[in-house]
Amino acid sequence: MRHFDQRTLAVLGAEVGAVPLLVLGLVSPSFIVPGRSWALLVIGVYTLISVAITAAVGRLSDGQFVILSFGGMLGIAGSALVIDDNGSAHAVLVLLAVIPALAAMDSSVSVIVGFVTTASILAATVVAIRAATPTALLVGGGAVIMAILIPTYMVWTLRQRLLVLVEQQSRLSITDPLTEALNRRGLLTQSHIVLNSCAGSDLMIGFLVADVDHFKKINDRHGHSAGDAILVQIAATLHACVPPGSLVARTGGEEFVILTAIAGNHEMYSLAERLRTRVAAATEVTLSMGAVCIDPDHATLRAVSTQALLDHLFRRADRCLYTAKREGRNRVQLDHGPVVEPTPAHVERFASYE
Ligand code: GH3
Ligand code: MG
Ligand code: MG
Repeated sequence: MRHFDQRTLAVLGAEVGAVPLLVLGLVSPSFIVPGRSWALLVIGVYTLISVAITAAVGRLSDGQFVILSFGGMLGIAGSALVIDDNGSAHAVLVLLAVIPALAAMDSSVSVIVGFVTTASILAATVVAIRAATPTALLVGGGAVIMAILIPTYMVWTLRQRLLVLVEQQSRLSITDPLTEALNRRGLLTQSHIVLNSCAGSDLMIGFLVADVDHFKKINDRHGHSAGDAILVQIAATLHACVPPGSLVARTGGEEFVILTAIAGNHEMYSLAERLRTRVAAATEVTLSMGAVCIDPDHATLRAVSTQALLDHLFRRADRCLYTAKREGRNRVQLDHGPVVEPTPAHVERFASYE
């Protein structure tokens, strides 16, 4: 089955729905103003062609939607002019409201405003031609314009609310609800921000795992809620101290990860030390850290997926973390990879974070 989007499906529904109405009009000559059946025939043919195009395309572009819908509006206004019965003519005219409402589902603001304006002008013109009295003009015109404006506004408002909800939902799905740091999925999906800023520059990929020391004792002593509050403080301190553009994630109960673009091992170590001392000063706990710094242009690493790259970094940083714990906690252990000396550009960039 062709992949229809909702707006195209709604257009197709409106076009197909119009066909039996047009057929009924054509087979009941007294229903049409004498000598005007040809107009209904033209509108009928246009509608059938529109059905065929919409079904064939499956997913109307904005431009295709505008062209087909504009023709549809002319067809509705034309039908309302050639129908003999006043009541039926006004009922058909109200169908003009359908198109701006359809536009509000998916189109740009300028397209929606264009359709609302065109529909209102067409409706007012038909009502003005048919109205027998000024009151009929005002009441009929006012009613049809309200019928155009209100559903369009409602669809637009619902669409905006839906967009906000989708945005919130996608943010929640990558965020740890307690600390508002990224979760594991967030680290994976956002890592391209850091990796891209490293690629093509002289910067290295810096990866740091920090684990709270003896956190179980804190929970035992002060309770789980106090422990939670400390985790929140730690995340806030890490966020405040990392270089702009870095990612801070909570990847386990009392374990945080920082992914950052950094000049080299020396800067990685000083960043880690800074984070360690700031957290120790801001909270009653200390952190042990394992940190690793790798060259983004390293041939074997360039060939692997982001997930595999993060796994690799995790493994190396975790090994260092284990050493830091074993050697007494509250310390930073750097991976013993090749030391990368910073260039003057690196020094300038990272000096501002001190
Ligand atoms: P170590 O220095 O070896 O890391 O000791 P530790 O006590 O921090 O490590 P361990 O793995 O023995 O215990 C981790 C503790 O972290 C146990 C668990 O109750 C606590 N924890 C994990 N997630 C949360 C959380 O979301 N909130 C709170 N308050 N505590 C948590
Ligand atoms: Mg711990
Ligand atoms: Mg742990």
